[in-house]
Amino acid sequence: MNVLCFGSLNIDYTYSVPHFVRKGETLSSTDLRLFAGGKGLNQSIALARAGLNVSLAGAIGEDGRFLLAELHESGVDTRWVDVLPGMRTGHAIIQNDAEGDNCILVYGGANHCTTREQIDRVLTAFGAGDVLTLQNEIRELDYLIRAAKAKGLRVALTPAPMNEAVEKLPLDLIDYLFLNEVECAALLHADAEADPIGAAQTLRERFGIGSVVLTLGGEGSAYAGAEGCFRQAAVPAEAVDTTGAGDTYAGFFLGGVLSRLDVPTAMRYASTAASIAISRPGASASIPSREEVLGRMV
Ligand code: ATP
Repeated sequence: MNVLCFGSLNIDYTYSVPHFVRKGETLSSTDLRLFAGGKGLNQSIALARAGLNVSLAGAIGEDGRFLLAELHESGVDTRWVDVLPGMRTGHAIIQNDAEGDNCILVYGGANHCTTREQIDRVLTAFGAGDVLTLQNEIRELDYLIRAAKAKGLRVALTPAPMNEAVEKLPLDLIDYLFLNEVECAALLHADAEADPIGAAQTLRERFGIGSVVLTLGGEGSAYAGAEGCFRQAAVPAEAVDTTGAGDTYAGFFLGGVLSRLDVPTAMRYASTAASIAISRPGASASIPSREEVLGRMV
């Protein structure tokens, strides 16, 4: 079984700030670090570190070639990442505050160049039993979902960053939906906080989704699917940088269920991985290895 992650690759510029910059304010950052990022890149690295066979498909400009080296180091196949002449690689400007929270400004760049021709070309290498993972940082998601399902792939979607287009996607074709409270509230048009399991179950029924995995930051996660509904507490950790917590969780959850862990164990596995990731700086750089996660699991 192979996993195809079709998604974004970004250069992340991470600025340490005492607080998020306010309207009209000029704020000095205390540090700047560059990381490989983008939800596609992060999730593909999480999936690979969770032990899966992963290919990433997407697009970058010449300025993003170092991202390919980082992906190779983590064992991700990058033959489907196109290097587009004259395009800039997508990038993100991340503010990381004293509490470890972040806010992010994204520039799409080459990530917005996905074409149906590219999708058809990439999908020739995948078939029934394989898994496609998607996030909402590239174009043509509707076409991708339908084309992958027609070939018998299972599809996982993280609808982040959330926008109005998500509700119009064929969500009834999605096998696994990963989302946080903000995305859940936007899709449900209601707050998920008081009853996360109920919210996950409502989403599942309303949109006809296979399984819904709702992450709740320090409050843990909730699952609704054919196996039942489950709640998992967060694994305590000191938050240094929460960037990529959701991608790490999704990568390890899928790594778990695709290697036949039961859902509650996969949730514990994913929560342990995410707790390690948030205790270190960066997004992809902070994603732990399978061995490290297994060593920490209680
Ligand atoms: P991001 O957009 O930063 O990648 P997200 O909003 O998609 O994150 P969250 O719900 O914040 O995702 O976090 C995903 C998972 O990471 C949570 O379900 C939890 O297991 C873990 N996590 C996040 N924050 C904390 C925390 N403060 N302490 C322990 N675990 C955490």
